[in-house]
Amino acid sequence: MAKRCGDPTVRVAAIDERGVEVEDDSVDRREHVIEEHRHSLDRPFTPPRGALWPDVRRRFTLGAMNAPSLRNGSVPDRVLVIHAHPDDEVFATAAATIALAEQGYQILLRVGTGGEGGLPAHAGDPARARNARAAQLTRSCRLLGIADWDYLAEAGRWIDTGCGGAQTLADEEPRVLAAAVRDCIDRVEPTVLLTVDHVGLTGHPDHIAIHNAVRGALAAPGWRPREAWGALLLRRHIVAAHALARDVIPHRSVGSGRVRGHPDDVVERLITCSPEDAGRRRAALDEYTPGLGTLPHTELAQRLDRFGDSLLLRLAMDASDWHTDRFARIHADNRTRTALIR
Ligand SMILES: [Zn+2]
Repeated sequence: MAKRCGDPTVRVAAIDERGVEVEDDSVDRREHVIEEHRHSLDRPFTPPRGALWPDVRRRFTLGAMNAPSLRNGSVPDRVLVIHAHPDDEVFATAAATIALAEQGYQILLRVGTGGEGGLPAHAGDPARARNARAAQLTRSCRLLGIADWDYLAEAGRWIDTGCGGAQTLADEEPRVLAAAVRDCIDRVEPTVLLTVDHVGLTGHPDHIAIHNAVRGALAAPGWRPREAWGALLLRRHIVAAHALARDVIPHRSVGSGRVRGHPDDVVERLITCSPEDAGRRRAALDEYTPGLGTLPHTELAQRLDRFGDSLLLRLAMDASDWHTDRFARIHADNRTRTALIR
């Protein structure tokens, strides 16, 4: 959404035919050396050397703390994460990126917009909003094991207006967006691709546009990721979040109303980080909205000034857990194949 290490052991689980979470031994477990380190949430953030902080820094490479493990000096497998807005990487794929980074994958994030609409204080000045959002995204990436982020195309090509309309991802010609994703995949050559599911996790039109663009891109000639997964929410967790909202914020309506979630049986893959590491997800959320990830329920109503889907998803994770991401496989959309062949 745009509006707004302890034990490094990582468990990758699956759903068996009865819908029960089980250890998935079929997952290609990599032999790797995990650098023992503990991420201290209270360690002050230091911008990458040479960065003009907090100027726009479209690309950055983290230091040794999040460096992927190398096997026999080889280049680590890459995970490409594609989202519409800064902060989607927290809500949709944070447990996965933390876990996969610990496994030795190099995680790269590409965002379609600068999340300009998420900063009302900079309304009318999208470039300034984008700069501020970029700084938040950089700090979030550091927490979530993401080694590098960039825009899907150039900065400002698409923007988050907060209310739809011209120059948004949802307003773009689908084949143009799919071609941009295709180019990105060909440059990164990822082993695994992560994005949101067909309802865009939350029903946001920009998220849905990104999902459709990934499906279109996968149908076109070029690099083939071995796996492509779309993050999703469970209906029972959204129902529980609304119930929690009625308790903790009884006089306010929470959420846009378009977040529905899915029945449990649509989940095909779980990626789980350690519960201890899930604290990094809360900290990343705080980078965007101070307190949203960590405030106790008793203070949410007083300290927050927005009660949208971001808060609903915070409550959904409180009602379930913060260390599990759920995914459905993404299949190529062959209807766009012809349009993308160049
Ligand atoms: Zn978003």
